[in-house]
Amino acid sequence: MAEPEATSLRHLPAVAAVLATAEAALLLERHGRIATTDAIRQVIDDTREVLRTTNAVAPSATDVAQRAGELLEARTPGLRALFNLTGTVLHTNLGRAMLAEAAIEAAVEAMRHPVALEYDLAGGARGERDDHLRSLLCELTGAQDATVVNNNAAAVLLCLNTFALGREAVVSRGELIEIGGAFRMPDIMARAGACMVEVGTTNRTHPADYHDALNERTGLVLKVHTSNYRIQGFTAEVSARELAAIADAAGVPLLNDLGSGSLVDLSRYGLAKEPTVREAVDEGARLVTFSGDKLLGGPQAGFIVGDHALIEQINRNPLKRALRVDKLRLAAIEATLNLYRDPDRLTERLPTLYFLTRVKADIETQARRLQTTVAERLGDAFVVEVGDCLSQVGSGALPLDTLASAALLIRARNSQSTLQRLVAALRMLPRPIIGRVADGALYLDVRCLIEADEPLFLASLARLDVDGVVAADP
Ligand SMILES: *Cc1c(COP(=O)(O)O)cnc(C)c1O
Repeated sequence: MAEPEATSLRHLPAVAAVLATAEAALLLERHGRIATTDAIRQVIDDTREVLRTTNAVAPSATDVAQRAGELLEARTPGLRALFNLTGTVLHTNLGRAMLAEAAIEAAVEAMRHPVALEYDLAGGARGERDDHLRSLLCELTGAQDATVVNNNAAAVLLCLNTFALGREAVVSRGELIEIGGAFRMPDIMARAGACMVEVGTTNRTHPADYHDALNERTGLVLKVHTSNYRIQGFTAEVSARELAAIADAAGVPLLNDLGSGSLVDLSRYGLAKEPTVREAVDEGARLVTFSGDKLLGGPQAGFIVGDHALIEQINRNPLKRALRVDKLRLAAIEATLNLYRDPDRLTERLPTLYFLTRVKADIETQARRLQTTVAERLGDAFVVEVGDCLSQVGSGALPLDTLASAALLIRARNSQSTLQRLVAALRMLPRPIIGRVADGALYLDVRCLIEADEPLFLASLARLDVDGVVAADP
C-alpha cells in the first residue's frame, strides 16, 4: 500500500517563500543569512515529518518564520545576564563577583584602544605587564613583590611547579582541600610535578610533624586556608607565624594559600573576619596566594605576593606565560585594586562588599516594595509574601557565616508541580531569574538586586507566560 501523502504537505511553504516574509527580514537582520536559512530549513524539515504522519494543517510562511525565530532565540548564547536571587553573593556558577563600575570602564577602555600593556611610557621601551599592578599590590599587602595569573588555582600550581618540581611539598593532612570544580590539592601537586608529603592527622598537626618531614628534598612548605570547611573539636594546627619560622630555619619557602583572602579587615564592615593578605605577609610566609573574584570583588585572577627573589623565579617559569592574564582583566584588576586605597568608600563602590554589607531592614523594604507588583504578575495561582531568609557569601569564603536577609517568598496555591514549572519558566526568561527552592517555596532573596535594576526585574517578570505555567496543571 502506498504511503498516503497528506494534502497539507503540498501546502508546506518553500524556503524562498519564508525568506520573503516580513518576519524573516527581521531574522535576517538579527541573525544573518546563513543562520536564518538554516533555521527555516530545519523548521520545514521538522514540519514535513509531522505532516507525513498526522492530519495537521500546513503552517503559513509567516508561521514557519516565527518558529525559525524561536529556534534562533533558543540558540542565543548561554552566557547571558541574569538575576542572581539565590542569596549566594559570590555564586561560582553564576560568575562570582560583579565588577565595580570603575573596573567595567577600565576594561571597556582597554578593549577599545591600544594600551601600554608591555610598554614603558617613561622610557619609551619594552615594559612588563606586571608593572601596572606590582606597586599597587605591594602597597595594599606590604609584600616586596607581586605577580598575577589566571586564577588562584593557577597561582598555587605555578608556585608548586617553580619550587617543588621533582622535589617535596609538605602540607598538613587537615588542609588537603577540595574546592568545587576539581581543584584538589593532591591532584594539583601531582600535576605541578611535586611529591606531596602529608604531615599530621586530619584534626591535629604539630610543629614536630613539619620538623620531621623537612629534609634536603623539600622544595616548599604549604599552609592552605580551609576555605570551605572547618575542622572543629579536638584540633591543633601550627600557626602561620610558627610555620614560617620552621620553614625559614630549614631554608625552604612557606607558601600560604589564602583562597579568598581579603585586602581589608572585613570585621570593620560588620562581617566575620577572613585572614587579610597583609596579615599573612606579616606572619612571615614568603609567598601568599589569593583569588581575584572572591571577597576581593574583582575579575577572575590569582595573585602571588611575596619575596622579590621568589617572585622573580616564578616569573622566569615558562608556565607563567601560559597562565598570564590579558589586558582586559589587567585593566579591571587595576581599577578594582585602586578602590581599596579608599576603604571608607569601598561599600559604595565595590558591588561584592555592598551586597555583603546590606542590612536586613533595607533588603526587607526592597522586598516589600516589589511584593505587590510581583504578586500581580504571577496572578491568583501563587501567593507572594515577604519572608526572612539567610544569604551566604559563597565561593567557599566564610562557609559557616550566614547573613540575615529578606526574600520574596512564592508558593503555588494548588500543587508543587506548578511551583516547579514556575521555577523552570523563570530560568527560561530572556533575562533569567534564579532563586532558591526550600520548604516548598521559591525564595527570591533580593540582597543582590540593585535598586536600579528593579524596573528590569519587573519587566522580565512581565514576560513570563503565567497562563502556560498554570494551565499545565492536571
Ligand atoms: C578558591 C580557592 C582556590 C582556587 O581559587 P580560584 O581563584 O577559584 O582558582 C585555591 N585555594 C583555596 C584555599 C581556595 O579557597
